[in-house]
Amino acid sequence: MRTRSEVVIVGGGIQGLAIAYHLAKDHGLRDVLVCEASYLCSGASGRNGGGIRAQWSSEVNIRLMQESLRLCKAFAQEHRINTWFRQGGYLFLARDPATCETLAQSVKLQNECGVSTRLLELREVTRIVPELSLDGVVAASYNPDDAVVFPWPFVWGYAEGARALGVEVAPFTEVLDIELSAGRVSAVETTRGRVATSCVINATGAHSPALAAKVGIELPNQPHRHEICSSEPLKPWLGPLVADLSNGLYFSQSTRGEIVGGVSNERVPPGANQDSSNRFLSLYARALVRVIPRMADAKILRQWSGLYDLTPDRNPIVGSVDGVGGFHLVCGFMGHGFMMAPVMGKLMAHHVATGERQPLFDQWNLRRFREGRLLSEGMIIG
Ligand SMILES: Cc1cc2nc3c(=O)[nH]c(=O)nc-3n(C[C@H](O)[C@H](O)[C@H](O)COP(=O)(O)OP(=O)(O)OC[C@H]3O[C@@H](n4cnc5c(N)ncnc54)[C@H](O)[C@@H]3O)c2cc1C
Repeated sequence: MRTRSEVVIVGGGIQGLAIAYHLAKDHGLRDVLVCEASYLCSGASGRNGGGIRAQWSSEVNIRLMQESLRLCKAFAQEHRINTWFRQGGYLFLARDPATCETLAQSVKLQNECGVSTRLLELREVTRIVPELSLDGVVAASYNPDDAVVFPWPFVWGYAEGARALGVEVAPFTEVLDIELSAGRVSAVETTRGRVATSCVINATGAHSPALAAKVGIELPNQPHRHEICSSEPLKPWLGPLVADLSNGLYFSQSTRGEIVGGVSNERVPPGANQDSSNRFLSLYARALVRVIPRMADAKILRQWSGLYDLTPDRNPIVGSVDGVGGFHLVCGFMGHGFMMAPVMGKLMAHHVATGERQPLFDQWNLRRFREGRLLSEGMIIG
């Protein structure tokens, strides 16, 4: 492994790899090393539901996701890899007046941004998913352009694309420490030796607080287990990803026919535990059967979990850090860091390569917590 690198990206999940790829491709910056503690896809990027949507309640998320959807759609052709991109839309369900209002406001904003989401009459909902029980549902929104993909090819595509351009992607290479010199990063200490560098990007997802602590930075985000499961393959019957905002239930049908989904489990304490629980299965089964009674007969074949990277205001933490030169953050992406990575990879690479100010990163900067400028987002699932 090289002993000196212009940029060291810590974390070989989709965020770190997308940045590496765009540094090399868009800016010709090939002297880049990605250190991944385990195998590629070991983190949340290899464990998620692959949902990609432009239905959000804040303008910044809507606009970023319009661009990310475009990038995701073009990914297979650009990287010569099948992503199982399936544009069946996202169908959101609301069951109470407050959520109904959030949905209506969000649809209005999405339409102003050019996203073709519609608030649906309930009879239209059953036209889109005839198997759906509308008992208790008071409103629904649908954007036909939202999509679902298989996540792994994105991770592999970015890794291979970056490698082909000269980036070194080093799995099984954990960053143990970060050296500082005169208030700037000067090297990282890894399980495979020391690497001198003046630029470190913390893309370690739910592990980002531990890495930031190495340079004396305290982050407010916390890891939180999120469980997910997959049914036996069924004949294709479900077009959109369905999300119930009342309990965080979401499910979609994969191209192999499996129903893949999860649900909120409010009793899960913060921590990096990635076990699977019976409680999750029973919460999920009850929530799913309430919405799709016919799923009562289906069998669950696999269950796994990953880590959400939760921030206090449900928005990410991105950009440079006051007081530590050359140290950048790209973390706190909750349950939507996968879909954000294509656009974030481009923006972050531009910022690191050119040093140009990125107004978005001011909004998402760590200092907002110190300054009490908290943000909000009403359409987080799970
Ligand atoms: C069950 C589940 C479902 C989800 N569903 C969706 C969805 O439908 N759509 C969506 O957009 N998002 C979803 N998400 C969220 C999404 O998966 C994450 O936001 C995203 O993958 C984060 O990517 P990342 O690269 O920041 O982190 P990760 O993929 O977690 O990568 C971080 C990497 O850093 C490595 N690392 C940590 N510490 C070190 C160190 N010291 N040295 C070297 N390497 C280190 C880890 O091994 C890990 O591989 C879901 C998440 C879960 C858990």
